[in-house]
Amino acid sequence: MSAINVKALTYQNVRRFLNSFDTVLTDCDGVLWMHMTPLPHSADVINLFRRLGKQVFYVTNNSTKTRNDLVEKCRTLKFEATKNDILCTAHLSACYLQSLNFRKKVYIIGSEAIAKELEQADISYCGLGPDPINQNNPYSVFEKDPEVAAVIVGFDEHFSYPKMVKAATYLNDVSVHFIGTNTDERFPVSNDVVIPGTGSLVRCIESCSERKAVIMGKPDNYMAKMLMERSNVDPQRTLMIGDRCNTDILFGTHCGFMTLLVLTGVTALSDVERWKQSERQEERNLVPNYYIDALGDLLPYLKE
Ligand code: PLP
Ligand code: CA
Repeated sequence: MSAINVKALTYQNVRRFLNSFDTVLTDCDGVLWMHMTPLPHSADVINLFRRLGKQVFYVTNNSTKTRNDLVEKCRTLKFEATKNDILCTAHLSACYLQSLNFRKKVYIIGSEAIAKELEQADISYCGLGPDPINQNNPYSVFEKDPEVAAVIVGFDEHFSYPKMVKAATYLNDVSVHFIGTNTDERFPVSNDVVIPGTGSLVRCIESCSERKAVIMGKPDNYMAKMLMERSNVDPQRTLMIGDRCNTDILFGTHCGFMTLLVLTGVTALSDVERWKQSERQEERNLVPNYYIDALGDLLPYLKE
Protein backbone atom coordinates (compact mmCIF):
# COMPACT_ATOMS: atom_id res chain seq x y z
CA MET A 1 0.00 0.00 0.00
CA SER A 2 1.25 3.39 -0.94
CA ALA A 3 -0.98 6.38 0.07
CA ILE A 4 -0.21 8.62 -2.91
CA ASN A 5 -1.30 12.24 -2.59
CA VAL A 6 -3.43 12.81 -5.70
CA LYS A 7 -2.57 16.50 -5.73
CA ALA A 8 1.16 15.74 -5.91
CA LEU A 9 0.64 13.89 -9.22
CA THR A 10 0.95 15.51 -12.63
CA TYR A 11 -2.28 16.42 -14.40
CA GLN A 12 -1.71 13.54 -16.86
CA ASN A 13 -1.21 11.03 -14.05
CA VAL A 14 -4.39 12.13 -12.27
CA ARG A 15 -6.25 11.71 -15.56
CA ARG A 16 -4.71 8.24 -15.93
CA PHE A 17 -5.88 7.40 -12.38
CA LEU A 18 -9.39 8.67 -13.17
CA ASN A 19 -9.49 6.50 -16.30
CA SER A 20 -8.37 3.41 -14.40
CA PHE A 21 -11.81 2.67 -12.87
CA ASP A 22 -15.34 2.47 -14.23
CA THR A 23 -17.20 1.68 -11.01
CA VAL A 24 -17.17 4.00 -7.99
CA LEU A 25 -18.35 3.05 -4.52
CA THR A 26 -18.62 6.07 -2.31
CA ASP A 27 -19.14 6.27 1.42
CA CYS A 28 -21.66 9.00 2.30
CA ASP A 29 -21.17 10.83 5.60
CA GLY A 30 -17.74 12.48 5.65
CA VAL A 31 -17.23 12.16 1.87
CA LEU A 32 -20.38 13.61 0.27
CA TRP A 33 -21.92 15.45 3.20
CA MET A 34 -21.68 16.08 6.92
CA HIS A 35 -25.13 15.33 8.33
CA MET A 36 -27.32 17.62 6.17
CA THR A 37 -24.55 19.85 4.77
CA PRO A 38 -23.14 18.86 1.38
CA LEU A 39 -19.33 19.04 1.12
CA PRO A 40 -18.21 21.57 -1.53
CA HIS A 41 -18.23 20.19 -5.11
CA SER A 42 -18.71 16.55 -4.00
CA ALA A 43 -22.01 16.45 -5.91
CA ASP A 44 -20.36 17.91 -9.04
CA VAL A 45 -17.67 15.21 -8.92
CA ILE A 46 -20.13 12.35 -8.40
CA ASN A 47 -22.49 13.61 -11.10
CA LEU A 48 -19.56 14.05 -13.51
CA PHE A 49 -18.42 10.49 -12.81
CA ARG A 50 -21.88 9.34 -13.89
CA ARG A 51 -21.82 11.56 -16.97
CA LEU A 52 -18.46 10.04 -17.92
CA GLY A 53 -20.15 6.61 -17.91
CA LYS A 54 -18.95 5.33 -14.55
CA GLN A 55 -21.45 3.42 -12.40
CA VAL A 56 -21.73 4.98 -8.95
CA PHE A 57 -22.96 3.25 -5.79
CA TYR A 58 -23.60 4.98 -2.48
CA VAL A 59 -22.47 2.65 0.33
CA THR A 60 -23.33 3.72 3.85
CA ASN A 61 -23.16 2.02 7.24
CA ASN A 62 -25.90 4.31 8.55
CA SER A 63 -28.74 2.01 9.69
CA THR A 64 -31.18 4.87 10.41
CA LYS A 65 -32.05 5.45 6.73
CA THR A 66 -33.95 3.34 4.22
CA ARG A 67 -32.94 3.23 0.56
CA ASN A 68 -35.86 5.59 -0.19
CA ASP A 69 -34.68 8.01 2.53
CA LEU A 70 -31.21 8.04 1.00
CA VAL A 71 -32.46 8.62 -2.56
CA GLU A 72 -34.41 11.57 -1.21
CA LYS A 73 -31.40 12.90 0.72
CA CYS A 74 -29.19 12.54 -2.38
CA ARG A 75 -31.70 14.43 -4.49
CA THR A 76 -32.12 17.19 -1.91
CA LEU A 77 -28.34 17.66 -1.79
CA LYS A 78 -28.10 17.44 -5.65
CA PHE A 79 -26.47 14.01 -5.95
CA GLU A 80 -28.03 12.00 -8.80
CA ALA A 81 -29.22 8.64 -7.49
CA THR A 82 -31.79 5.91 -7.94
CA LYS A 83 -32.79 3.27 -5.42
CA ASN A 84 -30.63 0.63 -7.11
CA ASP A 85 -27.53 2.78 -6.59
CA ILE A 86 -27.90 2.63 -2.78
CA LEU A 87 -26.40 0.00 -0.48
CA CYS A 88 -27.38 0.71 3.14
CA THR A 89 -27.34 -1.53 6.17
CA ALA A 90 -31.09 -1.38 7.03
CA HIS A 91 -31.89 -2.68 3.54
CA LEU A 92 -29.09 -5.26 3.58
CA SER A 93 -30.38 -6.67 6.90
CA ALA A 94 -33.73 -7.36 5.22
CA CYS A 95 -31.98 -8.83 2.12
CA TYR A 96 -29.91 -11.11 4.31
CA LEU A 97 -33.01 -12.56 6.02
CA GLN A 98 -34.77 -12.89 2.65
CA SER A 99 -31.82 -14.87 1.34
CA LEU A 100 -32.36 -17.29 4.26
CA ASN A 101 -36.04 -17.57 3.30
CA PHE A 102 -36.82 -16.23 6.77
CA ARG A 103 -40.54 -16.40 7.63
CA LYS A 104 -40.61 -15.67 11.37
CA LYS A 105 -40.29 -12.49 13.45
CA VAL A 106 -37.33 -10.17 14.13
CA TYR A 107 -36.57 -8.53 17.47
CA ILE A 108 -35.15 -5.11 16.52
CA ILE A 109 -32.75 -3.01 18.53
CA GLY A 110 -32.65 -0.10 16.11
CA SER A 111 -34.68 2.49 14.28
CA GLU A 112 -37.79 2.83 12.09
CA ALA A 113 -35.64 2.46 8.97
CA ILE A 114 -34.93 -1.20 9.76
CA ALA A 115 -38.63 -1.79 10.42
CA LYS A 116 -39.58 -0.18 7.09
CA GLU A 117 -37.09 -2.25 5.13
CA LEU A 118 -38.37 -5.44 6.85
CA GLU A 119 -41.95 -4.44 5.97
CA GLN A 120 -40.96 -4.09 2.32
CA ALA A 121 -39.53 -7.62 2.49
CA ASP A 122 -42.72 -8.89 4.16
CA ILE A 123 -40.92 -9.79 7.40
CA SER A 124 -42.61 -9.13 10.76
CA TYR A 125 -40.86 -7.52 13.71
CA CYS A 126 -41.15 -6.27 17.28
CA GLY A 127 -39.10 -4.22 19.74
CA LEU A 128 -39.05 -0.69 18.32
CA GLY A 129 -39.04 2.39 20.55
CA PRO A 130 -38.24 2.99 24.24
CA ASP A 131 -38.12 0.03 26.64
CA PRO A 132 -37.52 1.61 30.05
CA ILE A 133 -36.59 -0.32 33.19
CA ASN A 134 -39.68 -1.45 35.04
CA GLN A 135 -39.09 -0.59 38.72
CA ASN A 136 -41.58 -3.27 39.84
CA ASN A 137 -39.78 -5.85 37.81
CA PRO A 138 -36.11 -4.88 38.11
CA TYR A 139 -34.76 -8.03 36.48
CA SER A 140 -36.83 -7.24 33.41
CA VAL A 141 -38.40 -10.69 33.26
CA PHE A 142 -40.45 -10.72 30.09
CA GLU A 143 -42.64 -12.96 28.10
CA LYS A 144 -40.71 -14.31 25.15
CA ASP A 145 -42.41 -14.03 21.78
CA PRO A 146 -42.19 -17.59 20.41
CA GLU A 147 -42.20 -16.25 16.84
CA VAL A 148 -38.89 -14.38 17.22
CA ALA A 149 -36.13 -16.16 15.29
CA ALA A 150 -33.73 -13.27 14.56
CA VAL A 151 -32.25 -10.27 16.37
CA ILE A 152 -31.04 -7.19 14.46
CA VAL A 153 -28.87 -4.61 16.25
CA GLY A 154 -28.55 -1.20 14.60
CA PHE A 155 -28.32 2.36 15.90
CA ASP A 156 -30.87 2.80 18.70
CA GLU A 157 -31.16 6.01 20.68
CA HIS A 158 -33.42 4.09 23.11
CA PHE A 159 -30.85 1.35 23.82
CA SER A 160 -31.47 0.09 27.36
CA TYR A 161 -30.86 -2.70 29.84
CA PRO A 162 -34.28 -4.29 29.17
CA LYS A 163 -33.36 -4.44 25.47
CA MET A 164 -30.09 -6.19 26.37
CA VAL A 165 -32.05 -8.72 28.44
CA LYS A 166 -34.42 -9.43 25.55
CA ALA A 167 -31.78 -9.67 22.83
CA ALA A 168 -29.49 -11.89 24.91
CA THR A 169 -32.41 -14.12 25.92
CA TYR A 170 -33.54 -14.63 22.31
CA LEU A 171 -29.96 -15.26 21.23
CA ASN A 172 -29.51 -17.90 23.91
CA ASP A 173 -31.22 -20.17 21.38
CA VAL A 174 -28.43 -20.80 18.84
CA SER A 175 -30.93 -21.20 16.00
CA VAL A 176 -31.87 -17.49 16.37
CA HIS A 177 -30.03 -15.39 13.73
CA PHE A 178 -27.90 -12.51 15.00
CA ILE A 179 -27.38 -9.55 12.66
CA GLY A 180 -25.38 -6.39 13.43
CA THR A 181 -25.78 -3.54 10.96
CA ASN A 182 -22.26 -2.09 11.38
CA THR A 183 -19.27 -1.78 13.66
CA ASP A 184 -18.46 2.00 13.69
CA GLU A 185 -17.40 2.52 17.31
CA ARG A 186 -18.11 6.26 17.50
CA PHE A 187 -19.64 9.09 15.53
CA PRO A 188 -17.30 11.81 14.39
CA VAL A 189 -18.02 14.99 16.33
CA SER A 190 -16.07 18.20 16.38
CA ASN A 191 -16.24 18.96 20.09
CA ASP A 192 -15.14 17.06 23.19
CA VAL A 193 -18.21 14.83 23.47
CA VAL A 194 -17.87 11.13 22.59
CA ILE A 195 -20.98 9.74 20.89
CA PRO A 196 -20.98 5.92 20.94
CA GLY A 197 -21.83 4.44 17.52
CA THR A 198 -23.67 1.27 16.53
CA GLY A 199 -20.52 -0.83 16.89
CA SER A 200 -20.59 -0.18 20.63
CA LEU A 201 -24.18 -1.48 20.81
CA VAL A 202 -23.38 -4.55 18.67
CA ARG A 203 -20.35 -5.38 20.85
CA CYS A 204 -22.51 -5.00 23.98
CA ILE A 205 -25.05 -7.57 22.71
CA GLU A 206 -22.25 -9.85 21.48
CA SER A 207 -20.79 -9.75 24.97
CA CYS A 208 -23.96 -10.55 26.92
CA SER A 209 -25.22 -13.13 24.40
CA GLU A 210 -21.78 -14.78 24.03
CA ARG A 211 -22.39 -14.82 20.27
CA LYS A 212 -20.88 -13.10 17.21
CA ALA A 213 -23.13 -11.05 14.94
CA VAL A 214 -23.11 -11.32 11.15
CA ILE A 215 -22.20 -7.76 10.08
CA MET A 216 -23.95 -6.13 7.11
CA GLY A 217 -21.79 -3.00 6.68
CA LYS A 218 -18.21 -2.09 5.75
CA PRO A 219 -15.57 -3.53 6.27
CA ASP A 220 -17.34 -6.91 6.13
CA ASN A 221 -17.89 -8.42 2.69
CA TYR A 222 -21.69 -8.84 2.65
CA MET A 223 -22.19 -5.44 0.98
CA ALA A 224 -19.77 -6.41 -1.80
CA LYS A 225 -21.39 -9.82 -2.20
CA MET A 226 -24.79 -8.17 -2.73
CA LEU A 227 -23.28 -5.67 -5.16
CA MET A 228 -21.63 -8.41 -7.23
CA GLU A 229 -24.89 -10.37 -7.36
CA ARG A 230 -26.84 -7.35 -8.61
CA SER A 231 -24.38 -5.56 -10.87
CA ASN A 232 -21.59 -6.09 -13.29
CA VAL A 233 -18.55 -4.98 -11.29
CA ASP A 234 -14.90 -5.69 -12.12
CA PRO A 235 -13.00 -5.34 -8.79
CA GLN A 236 -9.82 -4.35 -10.64
CA ARG A 237 -11.61 -1.39 -12.23
CA THR A 238 -13.47 -0.30 -9.08
CA LEU A 239 -12.63 2.61 -6.77
CA MET A 240 -13.80 2.74 -3.13
CA ILE A 241 -13.88 6.28 -1.70
CA GLY A 242 -14.09 6.78 2.07
CA ASP A 243 -13.18 8.93 5.05
CA ARG A 244 -12.72 6.16 7.60
CA CYS A 245 -9.95 3.64 7.11
CA ASN A 246 -11.13 0.87 9.47
CA THR A 247 -14.45 0.62 7.61
CA ASP A 248 -14.21 2.09 4.07
CA ILE A 249 -10.57 1.53 3.14
CA LEU A 250 -10.40 -1.91 4.78
CA PHE A 251 -13.56 -2.89 2.88
CA GLY A 252 -11.95 -1.76 -0.38
CA THR A 253 -8.74 -3.62 0.43
CA HIS A 254 -10.64 -6.84 1.29
CA CYS A 255 -12.55 -6.66 -1.99
CA GLY A 256 -9.52 -5.95 -4.20
CA PHE A 257 -10.73 -2.43 -5.14
CA MET A 258 -8.53 0.63 -5.50
CA THR A 259 -9.00 2.94 -2.52
CA LEU A 260 -9.12 6.73 -2.13
CA LEU A 261 -9.19 8.36 1.31
CA VAL A 262 -10.64 11.85 1.66
CA LEU A 263 -9.52 13.89 4.67
CA THR A 264 -12.91 15.53 5.32
CA GLY A 265 -14.04 12.94 7.87
CA VAL A 266 -12.78 10.54 10.51
CA THR A 267 -9.24 9.44 9.54
CA ALA A 268 -6.36 11.93 9.70
CA LEU A 269 -3.25 11.77 7.51
CA SER A 270 -1.11 11.27 10.66
CA ASP A 271 -2.96 7.94 11.26
CA VAL A 272 -2.14 6.82 7.72
CA GLU A 273 1.55 7.76 8.12
CA ARG A 274 1.70 5.66 11.33
CA TRP A 275 0.01 2.62 9.70
CA LYS A 276 2.35 2.81 6.70
CA GLN A 277 5.32 2.23 9.02
CA SER A 278 3.59 -0.51 11.04
CA GLU A 279 4.98 -4.03 11.31
CA ARG A 280 1.43 -5.34 11.57
CA GLN A 281 -0.36 -6.40 8.36
CA GLU A 282 -3.77 -5.45 9.90
CA GLU A 283 -2.57 -1.86 10.16
CA ARG A 284 -0.94 -1.79 6.72
CA ASN A 285 -4.33 -2.96 5.31
CA LEU A 286 -5.77 0.37 6.49
CA VAL A 287 -3.49 2.39 4.21
CA PRO A 288 -5.30 3.68 1.10
CA ASN A 289 -3.78 3.64 -2.41
CA TYR A 290 -4.50 7.37 -2.78
CA TYR A 291 -5.61 10.27 -0.62
CA ILE A 292 -6.88 13.79 -1.28
CA ASP A 293 -7.97 16.63 1.03
CA ALA A 294 -11.55 16.62 -0.23
CA LEU A 295 -13.52 14.83 -2.96
CA GLY A 296 -14.41 18.20 -4.52
CA ASP A 297 -10.70 18.75 -5.26
CA LEU A 298 -11.03 16.23 -8.13
CA LEU A 299 -13.34 18.58 -10.04
CA PRO A 300 -10.68 20.43 -12.10
CA TYR A 301 -9.28 17.11 -13.37
CA LEU A 302 -12.71 15.90 -14.53
CA LYS A 303 -13.50 18.90 -16.66
CA GLU A 304 -12.14 18.75 -20.21
N1 PLP B 1 -24.37 5.10 11.57
C1 PLP B 1 -25.16 6.16 11.83
C2 PLP B 1 -26.33 6.00 12.76
C3 PLP B 1 -24.90 7.42 11.25
O1 PLP B 1 -25.70 8.48 11.52
C4 PLP B 1 -23.78 7.53 10.39
C5 PLP B 1 -23.47 8.80 9.76
O2 PLP B 1 -24.30 9.71 9.67
C6 PLP B 1 -22.99 6.40 10.13
C7 PLP B 1 -23.31 5.21 10.74
C8 PLP B 1 -21.82 6.42 9.19
O3 PLP B 1 -22.30 6.49 7.85
P1 PLP B 1 -21.31 6.40 6.61
O4 PLP B 1 -20.95 4.93 6.39
O5 PLP B 1 -22.11 6.97 5.46
O6 PLP B 1 -20.13 7.25 6.95
CA1 CA C 1 -18.11 7.98 6.46
